[in-house]
Amino acid sequence: MIVLEELLSSVETHPITAIINTALCVGAGGSSGSLADKSIVRNAEGNLLIPASQVKGRLRHECEKIVRGLHWPVCQSPKPETMCPQRAGLEYNFDREEYRVSYGEQPSYHCLICKIFGNPVLPSRGLFDDLVCSEDPDNLPEVLRPGVTLNRRRHTAEDKKLYFLETSPANAKLKFEGNIHILPSWTPNHPDYAKAVIWAGLRGIHALGGSKSAGLGWLDWQLPEILVAEDVWEFLAQGGLQ
Ligand SMILES: [Zn+2]
Repeated sequence: MIVLEELLSSVETHPITAIINTALCVGAGGSSGSLADKSIVRNAEGNLLIPASQVKGRLRHECEKIVRGLHWPVCQSPKPETMCPQRAGLEYNFDREEYRVSYGEQPSYHCLICKIFGNPVLPSRGLFDDLVCSEDPDNLPEVLRPGVTLNRRRHTAEDKKLYFLETSPANAKLKFEGNIHILPSWTPNHPDYAKAVIWAGLRGIHALGGSKSAGLGWLDWQLPEILVAEDVWEFLAQGGLQ
């Protein structure tokens, strides 16, 4: 019990809010499997929600871009073979002191991104809640957008291939809220860059869902202010050094 209490007291929790500016694709009905873009679903109470996995996946991708841009070698997610610690076919030198993690039977090397988001060997330091829409579902009219499946060869609409996309109401500025929980650093001998990179990564996500070209899922973030110490920026700037 004492161990659990110690663990909980060392977890940092921060509320994050996504404000959706356009209608969101909630899920697809009908026969076409390719439309089953489950970027938005409902919980048992009927509230719309953005699954944590969706946010975490996009955030990892954004953070990878930022850290690579600072010249740190980053492995290639999401395939385990090309992620740390395997990194099949990747040429950069990952055996650097900043990547050394003492976890498991012997120390191993994990890039800055894996040290935040984890990999098949190393648990994630970032735990994400689903982002739940605070609006009472009874106040949200259901909006169905009809569509038809086109036959590409014949350029005609196929019979009985009408489908409906359920979306949230357009321009309702719906708020989706949840928490990010950040566990202690794997390498406490270095400045903890995780929050700085996560916040920058979140600001790089301007849309969620697979249908942004159809005008679905554009968003703004409301994030708590964080203070990033000078030594964190200095650390992050050293990516090109070996
Ligand atoms: Zn990695």
